[in-house]
Amino acid sequence: MRYLAPGSLKEALDILRREDDARCIAGGATLVAMMNADLVAVDVLVGLGRIAELSGITETDDEVRIGAMTRHAEIAASPVLTGALGVVRSAAGQIAHPAVRNMGTIGGSICHADPAADFPAALLAADATIEAASAEGTRQIPIGEFFEDYFETALREGEIVTAIRLPRGPAGARGHHVKFSRVDGDYATVSVSAVLVMAGATCSYARIALGSSGPVPIRVTAAEEALVGSPLDQAAIAEAARLLAEAADPVDDVRGTTEYRLMLIPRLLARALNTLKDGETASV
Ligand SMILES: Cc1cc2nc3c(=O)[nH]c(=O)nc-3n(C[C@H](O)[C@H](O)[C@H](O)COP(=O)(O)OP(=O)(O)OC[C@H]3O[C@@H](n4cnc5c(N)ncnc54)[C@H](O)[C@@H]3O)c2cc1C
Repeated sequence: MRYLAPGSLKEALDILRREDDARCIAGGATLVAMMNADLVAVDVLVGLGRIAELSGITETDDEVRIGAMTRHAEIAASPVLTGALGVVRSAAGQIAHPAVRNMGTIGGSICHADPAADFPAALLAADATIEAASAEGTRQIPIGEFFEDYFETALREGEIVTAIRLPRGPAGARGHHVKFSRVDGDYATVSVSAVLVMAGATCSYARIALGSSGPVPIRVTAAEEALVGSPLDQAAIAEAARLLAEAADPVDDVRGTTEYRLMLIPRLLARALNTLKDGETASV
């Protein structure tokens, strides 16, 4: 195996075009474990760590741009991810434990496309766009089209995810991510990501996404419509949860049975919405 460490995005894309069996390595948290377990074999590893264009969080009036190589810990501590984008910050802070948060990157997380990961649902609720580059140019992939199946994305051969672009969301919005896991630091058995606007006691905007509930993160427009115009009372939350559970297709695995996961959905939805409604995430 050869390890190459390009210093620019152009150089990295040229290597991917040139080499038959080349694979990017970001934080290595997942890929190295898979290589150690003989689950993947790689001829050429392309380290992305020296490419400055892929790191850091920048903002404009309209959006926040997170470079693909930005570590979970930096995202979890970012003062820029407020309001609706608190959902992404909140998800980052709940990934695994500090060692993994200091190692893993948001690009690596979404490219691995583990349906139990925290970012996919949070990015869906935040209406993210994924920026991908290849030797042919750059394209923007709406988050709803990025995750295609278990561990499969819309990324094409030779493409590198360069950034995650987040629109600021509506005025007054707040976002939050909740997860249930067997033990602290584990992947989610089920997770819920929510972005809300409250106009007085009434919900005027809702974006809800479910994680660990099927091959890809799930958003159900009818569930959001059941919340908008309501005071987020028990009846509205129960109806939204019913619609979300209907769309879910959770597996039966070591983290929980299908039935158990379906049971968690209304509870986690209520927890996320009540936290946002009560304003407990205002400083997050
Ligand atoms: C013990 C442990 C616990 C964990 N718990 C959680 C958890 O609770 N929640 C959670 O969400 N995640 C969890 N993770 C996963 C963690 O978030 C990893 O950071 C993430 O899965 C992979 O990120 P990485 O940067 O290490 O990617 P890598 O391991 O380097 O790469 C992963 C894959 O993505 C590809 N890739 C990486 N970057 C790019 C790019 N920019 N463009 C194209 N392809 C790319 C690689 O080729 C590889 O196929 C856990 C991991 C471990 C080891």
